[in-house]
Amino acid sequence: MNADIVVIGAGALGLSTALHCALAGRSVVVVDRDTAGSQASGRAAGLFKSVQADSLRTGLARRSIARAVTFGDWAGVPLDVTRSGSYLIARTGAHAAYLRTEERQSRGWGVDLRPATPDEVSANVSYYHGTGAEFALWCPEDVYIDEPADLVRAYLAAARRHGTEVLERERVTAITLSHGRVGGVETEQRSIGAPVVVDAAGAWTRQVAALAGGTVAVAPVRHQLAITEPDRQVSQADPIVRVVDAAVYLRPARGGLMVGGFEADPLPFDVADPPPCTDEMPLDQGVLIRLAGLVRHEVPASGLPVAEHRGGMFTMSPDGRFVLGPVPDVPGLWVASGCNGSGFSSSLALGEALAQWIGGTPGEVAALAPGRFGPLTDEALVKDGVWQYEHYYDPLA
Ligand SMILES: Cc1cc2nc3c(=O)[nH]c(=O)nc-3n(C[C@H](O)[C@H](O)[C@H](O)COP(=O)(O)OP(=O)(O)OC[C@H]3O[C@@H](n4cnc5c(N)ncnc54)[C@H](O)[C@@H]3O)c2cc1C
Repeated sequence: MNADIVVIGAGALGLSTALHCALAGRSVVVVDRDTAGSQASGRAAGLFKSVQADSLRTGLARRSIARAVTFGDWAGVPLDVTRSGSYLIARTGAHAAYLRTEERQSRGWGVDLRPATPDEVSANVSYYHGTGAEFALWCPEDVYIDEPADLVRAYLAAARRHGTEVLERERVTAITLSHGRVGGVETEQRSIGAPVVVDAAGAWTRQVAALAGGTVAVAPVRHQLAITEPDRQVSQADPIVRVVDAAVYLRPARGGLMVGGFEADPLPFDVADPPPCTDEMPLDQGVLIRLAGLVRHEVPASGLPVAEHRGGMFTMSPDGRFVLGPVPDVPGLWVASGCNGSGFSSSLALGEALAQWIGGTPGEVAALAPGRFGPLTDEALVKDGVWQYEHYYDPLA
């Protein structure tokens, strides 16, 4: 079997890259050792966030929102996107000051947002009963995809429609090198020749890069969320809420409320060994109970009985930015990783940008190249990755 491009991993990042390469006229094969979307991508909260910490990520986030809401037009496959908007809420003076900085920055980068009074928040969000002392920002551009599998299915259908072959339940066991550059991959079932191989293996990115002698600075860190039983306290037309001082996000889901967040002292995985597959990753509902407790006063529905508790691994990078581009010292090997908690939503723009870069036009995302990190010890990688996780909502902290 031969192709122009082999993509390893059928998660959001791999499928988006494959789709955009196929749209550019390349022959593409995607290989996944499990099924498409079976790992982090199928377990995401599905949230898109226009407010980001720098102009590049803001541009990527907004581009992704634009591509998500017009998916049917350019990819030819329908995709349901809930245009709910979101409130960012701060309950401490320090976090209010932080949100004001974000407001100023984001507006400068073109984001549509404005301050909202506590009364407005209470009037527009049935599940949030504020104290009246909050500072809030209304972000009308923000959207969510209710079931993350819908985006995976849409990517799959669109990629196949444009000629991409997707091989599931087939592990890549080797990346072949010939004359000092990538020549293709070996799977459990076949050899596939290709001058370009994209490592989009999520939490297993490092192990896949290592098959070709490459190194990528990403550290897997656990992330979890819960969806409560359906309840009339939660209007399903409500917007997303992010309580930044508690690092908690909330949205309507399946008739109930989705509650997720970023705990201090999260669970990282050893970067020297392959992390577990997602179904074997230990979940800890205590983390979510503690996070929900931080907003219980304002959001009583966060204490409803849990209907679903799920989790997976983020790939955290030392600077909190995506890791996208050519892997140093392995010509022909590219990477799409370093999701830092936004890989699902940003996949639409990242796959597009990576396909253009592979085609010869790096653009602004050249700043995300994996070679930007110098040599790093495993300890430093994990420590920095954990710091980024803990400061997801306040990276200026
Ligand atoms: C609970 C939770 C909530 C989240 N919420 C959001 C959110 O609201 N918004 C957002 O933007 N992001 C969110 N994320 C992050 C988002 O899910 C990830 O950033 C994104 O899904 C990563 O996609 P990926 O393609 O890199 O990885 P994955 O989806 O994990 O895909 C990687 C694939 O590689 C395959 N693979 C690995 N090794 C091999 C091999 N040797 N051979 C073949 N295949 C291989 C795996 O089987 C897997 O399917 C959340 C994550 C979690 C866990």
